[in-house]
Amino acid sequence: MDNKSLEKLARGIHHCQRCERSQTRKYTVPGEGNPNSGMLLLGEAPGRKEDKTGRPFVGRAGDYLEKILSLHHLDRNQVFITSVLKCYHPQSPKKTQIEECLSWSFGQIELLNPKLILVMGRWAAWAFLDLNTLKDSPKVLTREGRTWIVTCHPAAAMRFPARDREFRKGFKIFASNAAELDLWRAPSPKTKGK
Ligand code: URA
Repeated sequence: MDNKSLEKLARGIHHCQRCERSQTRKYTVPGEGNPNSGMLLLGEAPGRKEDKTGRPFVGRAGDYLEKILSLHHLDRNQVFITSVLKCYHPQSPKKTQIEECLSWSFGQIELLNPKLILVMGRWAAWAFLDLNTLKDSPKVLTREGRTWIVTCHPAAAMRFPARDREFRKGFKIFASNAAELDLWRAPSPKTKGK
């Protein structure tokens, strides 16, 4: 994959003024990780800590996400992580902001060409898959030759036991699809005595 195009797109995000989030942000948060992994994790919107650093999922939800990744022998540098909205705002996301912002994520998807996408939370489910509810999630959809796993957001999973179970289940499905698609495989346990 051409890193220069991804960087160019990130520069476009840095200069974006399409919605009111551009007035309150400190840093834009375009996303980061391995652009060649074929695996994309999609969140909702950067929080305060992400705003201060320009990096996705570095707050408490990020700690939770890293814990779940590590349960599957993955770390954040092995996947690409971004969110539907690329800027922080103290208020919840608005549909109009998402509509203004969405073409940045579509551009990223075109460049990264992920085979497997974990859609985390209702805003991401609405924006990318036109789903109005997370009922019945985790669920698996196939669209445009990609596998999309829809689950709740890590911030909800941290707070509510039922959502925690849902997220873990969703991530397990993500990991097994990653292995099936040959994108990633858990290391085999070391042979005893060797
Ligand atoms: N939640 C998100 O959806 N994205 C981030 O970058 C951080 C928290």
